[in-house]
Amino acid sequence: MKTGWDYEIFWKEAVKQIQDDISEQEFLMWFRYMDYLVSEDSRLVLSVPSSFYKDQVSQRYLSKIENILHELSGHKIVVSFKVQKKLAPQEDKQTDQAVKTSPPIIKRKTHPQLNKDYNFNRFVRGENNDFAYMASYAIAKNPGKAYNPCLIYGGVGLGKTHLLQAIGNLSYSDFPNLKIVYVTAETFTNEFILSIKENTSHRFKNRYRSVDVLLIDDIHFLQGKVETQEELFHTFNALYDANKQMVFTSDRPVVEFKRLSDRLRSRFERGLNVDLLPPNYETRIAILKTKIEEKKVIIPNEVVEMVCQNIKTNVRDLEKALTKLIAYAELVNRSITLDIAQRQLKDFFSHHDHKNITIDIIQRIVSEYFGLSQNDLKGKKKSKAIAFPRQIAMYIVRDLTEYSTTEVGLEFGGRDHTTVMHACQRIEDRMKTDSTLEPTIQHLIRTMKEHRM
Ligand code: ADP
Ligand code: MG
Repeated sequence: MKTGWDYEIFWKEAVKQIQDDISEQEFLMWFRYMDYLVSEDSRLVLSVPSSFYKDQVSQRYLSKIENILHELSGHKIVVSFKVQKKLAPQEDKQTDQAVKTSPPIIKRKTHPQLNKDYNFNRFVRGENNDFAYMASYAIAKNPGKAYNPCLIYGGVGLGKTHLLQAIGNLSYSDFPNLKIVYVTAETFTNEFILSIKENTSHRFKNRYRSVDVLLIDDIHFLQGKVETQEELFHTFNALYDANKQMVFTSDRPVVEFKRLSDRLRSRFERGLNVDLLPPNYETRIAILKTKIEEKKVIIPNEVVEMVCQNIKTNVRDLEKALTKLIAYAELVNRSITLDIAQRQLKDFFSHHDHKNITIDIIQRIVSEYFGLSQNDLKGKKKSKAIAFPRQIAMYIVRDLTEYSTTEVGLEFGGRDHTTVMHACQRIEDRMKTDSTLEPTIQHLIRTMKEHRM
């Protein structure tokens, strides 16, 4: 039996063809608000925002859509439209009635904790993420059997949450009987603390120890949280012994965790650890084009290329740039030209535009990353655990801001300018021999920019 999966792909492709076929204005008018809804057994339902709209698109485009789908899939697919006002999930029940009059369609369920848009279908593969993608897919198809546990790590905006939720979404639809829990490490921690306060920790334990697939996002948050680590350690053991699937994400590899108990560290290192790297130019283009299609807007190729040449950091930044362009185009009701895009996005682009990154932000983010307090960086202590992060912070300040070495020295507990120069030199030398240092610094800088925006 065909699943909705395949038709969604055909639908996406059909939209591309229609877009090539009709005028931009026409396309924006009639296709921007039409969405893939569900499909099964040679039938496909598209959502439209109103009855008027439904009548119009049925008259104008139904046969065109069906013909294209026929060509693409090799068989006839009957298309129907369903009026669905957006952003009103509570209306689902009512509108479902409308579909019930026609032969039954199995609606793809959505897991309450998951965003259904974070699926494998929408994840663009490139060499930077392919291994992580394939591992995640294999896990979703064989929970508890392949790669258990698994840790996906990488910098901000590179798709960790997307993949983690894609695992949840796919195993949820393939294995409806499994208990799947997605939670951020922060929520896990808060729930745990609350359960102690309210004397319900037995319930908390039962809840997490009875799941089949446990997905915990951003476990770097657990650094320094001793009791929560302890609790997770026991949860881990219970699930591991029962062959239940666990997948975690973090912003760094396990070796770079600070203030994490050794025994939990060894648990995370078990199984598979895979990284997500920033996408290269070709992948950025593919990702941006996919996002443009998803949003059903028209953006000229030269703009796409220009954006991808300038935004190299991560996918979230690409999305932000796109959102900004679309918002502008809608606001002034003009199509997006190269010139407009350049002007609208100039803040995103200039890599030396770190104007709003202050020494304070740098100190805060570096100290947080290394599990120190900001005062440690400014203080007198010279132990390696503090001196090294301090040197990194000084190096980043010199790299991103206009402060002189003397001024930087003052901001770091009244140190001499030669100390600052020495620190920067140390970091530069070390980057030549330690290949993990530069990515770490880049990651920190990205976090600072993110923080600023
Ligand atoms: P992270 O959790 O690593 O910070 P997210 O998973 O939140 O990053 O990704 C940021 C945004 O970029 C999300 O909207 C996500 O859908 C999108 N994204 C990331 N990687 C990809 C990809 N390879 N293809 C399509 N979208 C992606
Ligand atoms: Mg995330």
